[in-house]
Amino acid sequence: MVNSNGQGNPSQENIGFADIVMEAVSASGTLYREGLGMIASENIVSPMVQKIVASDLHGRYAEGLPHKRYYQGCGGFDTIEELGIDLTKQVFDVPFANIQSTSGTVSNIAALKALAKPGDKITAVSTADGGHISHARMGAVGLRDLDLSTYPWDEERMEPDVDAAAEMIREVKPKIALFGQSVFLFPTPLKELADAAHEVGATVMYDGAHVLGLIAGGCFQDPMREGADVMTGSSHKTFPGPQGGFVLSSNEDEIFQRRLNNSVFPGTCSSYHLHHVAGKVIALAEFKQYGEELSQNTVANAQAFAGALAAEGFDVLAESRGYTASHQVLTRHGSLDSGAGAKAAQLLEDAGIITNMNMLPGDTKALTPSGLRLGVQELTRVGMGVSEMEEVASLYARVLIKGEDPDAVKADVTQFKSEFQTIRYCFNPEQTNGYPF
Ligand SMILES: *Cc1c(COP(=O)(O)O)cnc(C)c1O
Repeated sequence: MVNSNGQGNPSQENIGFADIVMEAVSASGTLYREGLGMIASENIVSPMVQKIVASDLHGRYAEGLPHKRYYQGCGGFDTIEELGIDLTKQVFDVPFANIQSTSGTVSNIAALKALAKPGDKITAVSTADGGHISHARMGAVGLRDLDLSTYPWDEERMEPDVDAAAEMIREVKPKIALFGQSVFLFPTPLKELADAAHEVGATVMYDGAHVLGLIAGGCFQDPMREGADVMTGSSHKTFPGPQGGFVLSSNEDEIFQRRLNNSVFPGTCSSYHLHHVAGKVIALAEFKQYGEELSQNTVANAQAFAGALAAEGFDVLAESRGYTASHQVLTRHGSLDSGAGAKAAQLLEDAGIITNMNMLPGDTKALTPSGLRLGVQELTRVGMGVSEMEEVASLYARVLIKGEDPDAVKADVTQFKSEFQTIRYCFNPEQTNGYPF
């Protein structure tokens, strides 16, 4: 079958592989369309972003920065990236933005590369207390061969123990003081800790992966004005864009900024997924329009959901602090290390509710934790409000407290979700029609 110009008859076996993938993609889409997506790191993208990430840009390269390229053909993309940098500076109110990194982890690798050398000291939140794997020896911190110390933790307040952590920073004298978590209910007491870090000459890095949308919407904390020198994050958790990352800085110094740019390209990326960068720029424009409202509603929904779960009889963490100030809610379903979180997550999936098990304070085993970490950002994005949060909590209770058959609950979940099929807080899909991608 040579010289068939790629038109030869495919074998049934090879077509079969494609069918398997197409069917699985469709099944995954159906699960989320009919069910309740409540994984705190996930989100859905607007129709315009969906269209952009499927555009011709997905196959293109643009190494370098706008107007300083190694390849021809980047004129259109220069316009996109330049606008994106500008919008990012506006949305986060920062003098420096790099929008190239392909994920939150890549953003962290790039920032750690720019800010420290192998063997330097770093302080961060331990993974047991909610820190991300990229803050750990098994992740980016180890990849850069940094010497890690983790902060003393206040389990009651679910944040670093301010006095003890400040003292520890003064003692360790790290090159980088890294803050931010994946289990992230309350703002980091950053001012005090950043002061201690700056006293000993450390760079303060804040990883806002989960809460970037809430920060940009003015609903969580304002790290860049509370002492952070660099902020990294994902563009697809509470920030409602396609998968990708940001590296931001409050530092006006050009040499410092160049170091950050160089650490993304050529430091960690060659291709940086231009279709996703273009998608980020659309998401930024949509965020400028709707982001504040989206963020406010997300936090209000999380608080309402936590309260409703507690009223149903669930053990919701951090009651004394009002349960949450972010998009996340944590629930405990049995004794420490019992695997009760894993069991609860499976029963919920059987009922069409997608969550993840999570270690809670005191748990020591990642595969048999006692808890769940729940996020309401995706439900908020499809238009759910406080009264729907009560409905969702009652569905949880039917599965996990009343012991109803998950299949029976799933039918009601599907019925309930059928009313929420339109993505909100974005430009009208009609406005995207007619663009020749
Ligand atoms: C999710 C997360 C990351 C990683 O982001 P990806 O985009 O998944 O690579 C980094 N840091 C924190 C705190 C996170 O929660």
